[in-house]
Amino acid sequence: MSWISDRARNCAPSPTLGMNSRANALKAQGVDVVGFGAGEPDFDTPEHIKQAAIDALQRGFTKYTPSSGIEDLRRAICEKLQRENELRYDPKQIIVSIGAKHTIYNIFQAVLDPGDEVLIPVPYWVSYPEQVKLADGVPVFVDAPEANGFRVTAAALAEKITPRTKILVVNSPSNPSGAVIEPDELRRIAELAVERNLLVLSDEIYEHLTYGRKHVSIASFGPEIQQRTLLVNGFSKAYSMTGWRLGWLAGNAELVAAMGRIQDQSTSNPTSFAQCGAVAALRGPQECVATMRSAFQDRRDYIVRRLNAIPGISCVLPEGAFYVLPNIGGLLSERLPDSDALAEHLLAGVKIAVVPGSGFGVPHNMRLSYATSMAQIEKGLDRLEAAAKELTGA
Ligand code: PMP
Ligand code: GLU
Repeated sequence: MSWISDRARNCAPSPTLGMNSRANALKAQGVDVVGFGAGEPDFDTPEHIKQAAIDALQRGFTKYTPSSGIEDLRRAICEKLQRENELRYDPKQIIVSIGAKHTIYNIFQAVLDPGDEVLIPVPYWVSYPEQVKLADGVPVFVDAPEANGFRVTAAALAEKITPRTKILVVNSPSNPSGAVIEPDELRRIAELAVERNLLVLSDEIYEHLTYGRKHVSIASFGPEIQQRTLLVNGFSKAYSMTGWRLGWLAGNAELVAAMGRIQDQSTSNPTSFAQCGAVAALRGPQECVATMRSAFQDRRDYIVRRLNAIPGISCVLPEGAFYVLPNIGGLLSERLPDSDALAEHLLAGVKIAVVPGSGFGVPHNMRLSYATSMAQIEKGLDRLEAAAKELTGA
């Protein structure tokens, strides 16, 4: 007999975290691996944010806080939403959790009953379907085709709605594709959600990483859609604070209260002094965000140009986040039938770590994160090019 529950047995391991730890383990053994796996910015957290957390520790801000986050941080989030998104929220409509991953987990726990369906565009971030299943929900996949720049449409979503559909997931800019949904299409998705009485989980964690365009939140298309949007965001990507573990939700007060009860009984509050750093992130100077964005844009331009010149590979230009999701169909063969086999081949052969597309629902693609230095990107692409030439005989 096994001690493991069906729930745990059915939960797939995270391929993004998995590839990261494998690459790091090889590096620790002295192997010169180029890591394109990590979904985290390579920059340090800006100094003024660290200082605010240090100050909080030194003045003894080391006790439990309200489970849903300190009032000051929830106010700072409301100010951010007003300033950057022209959205009005009350601190009662905000809950701070232990990373946006935890926020999303709590949403599914608070909203789904067994058998409820959640529409998830493919390619998707690896944790959405697993978290839906952990809440006894059913992930329903909707194609966001490569030919459409991996952008999902309202029409494709509409086709998959059933009487059991409760939530529709929007992740723009997207992990893993970097796709940004055009405002007109986003408005159509908003109209669909209102018309069909669905909640929208809008994961806007890459809001500040858009290139040459301004982010638009789906919640900003009017009060009807705002009140059914579960707007998720966090500090990991914009402020390079992945290890701080802070994410948040803005939404309907009744739902926030339900998530608060779950948080009361599971994790309690996010780390006290980390929350003070987050207040400084939102209220302090924002130049650090622009500096990181501009470095990411240079890397994106370089990596896409190089990838499209490699035999067997084609790559859509992503408009946001720090990922590219090239199609590697031209490198596959009987010996290397899918992106899992190719990723193994690349790690063993030319020592580059990429995340196979299978974990994101696209087995003919692979994800490269360019949240690593330009020197590493150049070296990694030289290696990929050599491997591709060998595989294609070019
Ligand atoms: N959503 C998406 C789309 C992500 O890529 C990530 C990063 N892992 C998260 C949510 C969670 O971020 P965090 O828990 O670090 O706030
Ligand atoms: N979001 C990042 C990624 O996709 C971090 C890893 C994770 O949490 O899945 O690589």
